[in-house]
Amino acid sequence: MSALKEFDYIVVGSGSAGCPLTARLLEKKNSVLLVEAGKKERLNLTHIPAALVHTIGNKRYDWDFQTEPDPTRDNLVEKWPRGRVPGGSSAINGMIFIRGAAKDYDAWEAMGNKGWGWNAVLPYFRKMETADNDKDNALRGGLGPQRVSALRWKHPVSEAFLDSFVNAGVPLNPDLNGASHEGVAWNQGSTREGKRHSAWEAFIKPKLGNPDLTFVDGTIVETILFEGRRAVGIRAIKDGTRVTFKARKGVVLSAGSINSPQILMLSGIGDPAQLKRHGIEPLVESPDVGRNLMEHPGLYVLAEMNVTTANSLATPINGVKTLAEWVFRRKGFMSVPTAQVLAFLKSDPSFEEPDLQFHLFPFGWVKKKGRYTVPNRKLTTILVNINHPKSMGHLELRSKDPLAPVAIYPRLLDHPDDFDGVKRGLAWVRKIASTAPFGSQVINLIDVPDPSAGAAADEAYIRKSTVPFLHPVGTCRMGIDARAVLTPDLKVRGADNLWVADASIFPRHIAGNTNATSIMIGERASDLIEP
Ligand SMILES: Cc1cc2nc3c(=O)[nH]c(=O)nc-3n(C[C@H](O)[C@H](O)[C@H](O)COP(=O)(O)OP(=O)(O)OC[C@H]3O[C@@H](n4cnc5c(N)ncnc54)[C@H](O)[C@@H]3O)c2cc1C
Repeated sequence: MSALKEFDYIVVGSGSAGCPLTARLLEKKNSVLLVEAGKKERLNLTHIPAALVHTIGNKRYDWDFQTEPDPTRDNLVEKWPRGRVPGGSSAINGMIFIRGAAKDYDAWEAMGNKGWGWNAVLPYFRKMETADNDKDNALRGGLGPQRVSALRWKHPVSEAFLDSFVNAGVPLNPDLNGASHEGVAWNQGSTREGKRHSAWEAFIKPKLGNPDLTFVDGTIVETILFEGRRAVGIRAIKDGTRVTFKARKGVVLSAGSINSPQILMLSGIGDPAQLKRHGIEPLVESPDVGRNLMEHPGLYVLAEMNVTTANSLATPINGVKTLAEWVFRRKGFMSVPTAQVLAFLKSDPSFEEPDLQFHLFPFGWVKKKGRYTVPNRKLTTILVNINHPKSMGHLELRSKDPLAPVAIYPRLLDHPDDFDGVKRGLAWVRKIASTAPFGSQVINLIDVPDPSAGAAADEAYIRKSTVPFLHPVGTCRMGIDARAVLTPDLKVRGADNLWVADASIFPRHIAGNTNATSIMIGERASDLIEP
């Protein structure tokens, strides 16, 4: 074991939250060690927005976790992708940029998390971004490192989808990141001039020459080092060798919703009974580490169309043209996020908030052995998920081996209200697929039972087809109750100089994809850790 240099802070994980946090701690004149399990040499492919077809499910870029069977969904076992490269999941994600609803953050504050209400987090959302669309400057940012771009390429089938929502009575929203997220809208992407703009590209790449920044990749953090209960460093594995790093001011875990709780447990912070089962001496009793796992459950419905879709752009001949268009002009199918249209709606007008989110992919992909391929067929994908799930899963250590992934128990449809929510989502999928103009282009919804088959057929379909939308949160929840893993200022309860800042801190899920919120958490954490 070798001891290396000492830093002010150590940030574990260079993902959506870890990158802005590190950048801002550097701006406050700290020396920072940023530790990342993934490898920097892998980044080239991630620049192409459409290349996520190749990176998701590929262990060179993706942790590629596998769940335990989920009894709430016919014992389904599935892969849970999480980015394992600089940029973390922002380097392999779908690049949808959405903040969620103002009410989501007000709900966090109402749960006791002072300082997380909409008015408090809005300045951080503004600070993080430079949005290139026609924006309201009181609500959007113009000077932040994260580029947010309007789509530079739209497929006609996406336009038809958007128009069908309007024809079904859902209002057109000019900016989903503006005054309200409700309605149907063109997606905005975390892209810059046709390239993916991950948190790494936005926040860390411009700072690589800063002498106060030390970045180590290919390095897996296994445990936090303590003096008493004060975090003073980390122990990690690099190229099969154990290394230690010291921190004067403290350690921040930004390793994501699956790995941050694992590192806490490996460090003796968790449910004492579980820790002891694996031969780990408990340091801090914190029974909710790894619990409160919340996801967005929903359906990916493939639609067979009678018009050409973006699948035609991925055939061997057209694929070369499509790639050339990206290489020479940074335009076309490969330059934009997979989802082109988003919608947030109330499936029941009596609801206070939109309960459903829709996405449209103007193509359909099929999964073969865990990897995606785009077949030469006329397909689109309609995605629907519920916004505020009540079901909760959890994570458990499998062993004290830091290289062994935790066991994931999703329990995605545990709560009957979530099952009913997905049912309402299915009804809306059918409605849009029969509303002109998109409805006139749909031949059939693949695998979706005919409505004449009745409620039992729908319910069986929902049980076996509901999937997570890749937004796991809540496993190191902040709160003011005794079981909360973190205080509202992100300190690990029972320890000193130790914080968590990533998607695991959510006390409740939000209406929307979780990248922008994770970046906001990193931004805000820098001010909580060092005001
Ligand atoms: C395939 C996919 C598609 C998605 N699509 C979208 C989308 O379109 N829009 C959207 O808003 N959200 C999307 N999301 C969700 C969003 O990207 C994540 O919620 C967000 O990136 C989470 O940020 P984070 O900082 O919590 O973790 P991450 O960004 O995952 O970062 C964690 C980092 O920590 C590193 N790490 C983990 N363990 C260790 C360790 N032991 N030692 C060292 N380093 C470690 C990881 O390698 C990783 O780099 C998607 C996610 C995925 C996986």
